[in-house]
Amino acid sequence: MAAIKINHEKCTLCKLCIDACPFGAIEIRDEKLFINENCNLCGICVKTCPEGALSKEESVVSFADISSYKGIWFFAENRDDKLCPVAFEMLNAALQLKRDIGEDVAGILIGNNVKKFASELTARGADKVYVIEDSMLEHFQEETYASAMAQLIVKHKPNIVISAATMIGRAFIPAVAAKIRTGLTADCTDIGIDPETKLLVQTRPTFGGNLMAKIICRNHRPQMATIRPKMFEESSDVNNGQPDIIIEEFDKSSLLNNIAILKKERMQNTVVIQEAEVIVSGGRGVNDPKNFEMIRELADLLGGAVGASRAAVDSGWIPYPHQVGQTGRTVKPKIYIACGISGSIQHLAGMQTSDYIIAINKDPDAPIFRVANLGIVGDIFEVIPVLIKKIKEARKC
Ligand SMILES: Cc1cc2nc3c(=O)[nH]c(=O)nc-3n(C[C@H](O)[C@H](O)[C@H](O)COP(=O)(O)OP(=O)(O)OC[C@H]3O[C@@H](n4cnc5c(N)ncnc54)[C@H](O)[C@@H]3O)c2cc1C
Repeated sequence: MAAIKINHEKCTLCKLCIDACPFGAIEIRDEKLFINENCNLCGICVKTCPEGALSKEESVVSFADISSYKGIWFFAENRDDKLCPVAFEMLNAALQLKRDIGEDVAGILIGNNVKKFASELTARGADKVYVIEDSMLEHFQEETYASAMAQLIVKHKPNIVISAATMIGRAFIPAVAAKIRTGLTADCTDIGIDPETKLLVQTRPTFGGNLMAKIICRNHRPQMATIRPKMFEESSDVNNGQPDIIIEEFDKSSLLNNIAILKKERMQNTVVIQEAEVIVSGGRGVNDPKNFEMIRELADLLGGAVGASRAAVDSGWIPYPHQVGQTGRTVKPKIYIACGISGSIQHLAGMQTSDYIIAINKDPDAPIFRVANLGIVGDIFEVIPVLIKKIKEARKC
């Protein structure tokens, strides 16, 4: 693989390359020329430079190097001083890959005071845990987390690196892939190993969700993917013995460090429906944005979150983060209540693995009833108010 190299001694900072680059990939940082992640190696800058300070170098990772990459890594996401459930989902996904390629599974802990989580990971099947702790990593920032992860990868050369496609994973894992110049398949719905080539097969929707693409990364390492939450069960307790913990110093030398966290505040009305144990979802049958109040009241009473079909979102009745389905969120709550939702294949793709599905629909032939554990044929404007009343009455007892 190629890279643009800068000879800083020859570079006069004339900026001709900056003007010539069609991708805005060249900038000046700390009074030095810098190639950023927009670079697609077109080589125009090399031809433009009058001093010969730029060159295109091949083979950052050669084919021969690939065999030296071993191990299946997962990013063990932690927030609010605890491991997130997605950390155990990724661990389980990694363990499934291990069955096919037999390589060790390692968890990656990044943060401040996070070493304490290592034994939880090994107790659930991780062979080892790499830890980078630093006060600079206390709060998530793309730059610092990407640097820490890239540093570990460059040193220990894993074969596969996976992370949940959460807000955090989606934010920094692409930067890691760009830093180490490998590929990344984002937002996968499944991963597995090709039996012949032993390559990671990464499955994700494409063409607006109309096709499922299977993607492999043949020539570069590590093979990297982010995976939608709830596509894998959490790993269970296996008591893997003593934790093998590898602690690494955080190398801050290449950080720009131009962000200071002044204050951290939890945003009001943030929607994290993937983590809710109960979801009450409304579809086109809700008929009007103000009727979502009824859906919200039921969800609140059950300590749950509000979901929606794409029809409701597209109608502007509720914002996109609530959308469940192929082009929305994938959820797996303990209880999913579908209200006025027909049950299209695209909606089912995002919720059909929920533990218990209740459907309320006035059409007895609605496809949602085929996946429902409990189906109520009726008008939501009659059924939901009764449910709300009964729950309130029961709470008073
Ligand atoms: C590429 C692609 C991606 C997509 N991604 C998604 C996605 O992520 N999520 C998603 O949801 N959809 C998605 N869709 C859209 C999907 O195909 C459906 O159009 C959509 O799910 C329909 O939403 P709905 O069930 O709310 O509406 P409808 O299909 O119109 O169903 C409304 C239902 O409400 C019932 N109803 C009406 N009034 C009442 C009442 N008063 N009481 C009880 N029941 C009532 C009706 O009987 C009907 O079954 C996608 C489509 C495509 C092509």
